[in-house]
Amino acid sequence: MNDLFQYVGPKPILDRTREAPPGVRILSAIDLREWLRSTGQRPNAAGLIPVTFVIDEDGCLRVADRASEHVACSGHRPVRSAGEMFLRVVGDGVEVEEVSNQSTGFCPTPTSWPAVAAALDPLGIRHPGRFTSEITFRRCTSCGERNVVKDEWFTCGVCGADLPHQWNF
Ligand SMILES: [Zn+2]
Repeated sequence: MNDLFQYVGPKPILDRTREAPPGVRILSAIDLREWLRSTGQRPNAAGLIPVTFVIDEDGCLRVADRASEHVACSGHRPVRSAGEMFLRVVGDGVEVEEVSNQSTGFCPTPTSWPAVAAALDPLGIRHPGRFTSEITFRRCTSCGERNVVKDEWFTCGVCGADLPHQWNF
């Protein structure tokens, strides 16, 4: 198992989500279908259902409505990975069609993928075998802002300082 990621986002979000319920633990593909149905999740124009997810400390998949904060989904605990999934309902089952490590609360590395695969594989939920969208997060060592690095451009969007090439949360 890879390392745990601690919450690195703003404190107001932490405080605001103190009472929010944690994400639902998914123990089978049927669980996931049932959660989609009971919470009234709707597919987007592409036929995909976006959800917030984390892989919790125990290596288990937890999901929440897309509008949820990752820190709430985690139950205010560290995670092994976090991001967004785009699910497709196929017959009686459900598949992960797209998945990213897009979580500005935990800023997980793309190398956290194996934790995601290890959570999905025992459930028999098909997935792309990688993050279909890999997000590179860095903290600016000058102003402290969390940045998403785009096109290998390691420059802080707030103060213009150079960003480190190593993950630094
Ligand atoms: Zn900066």
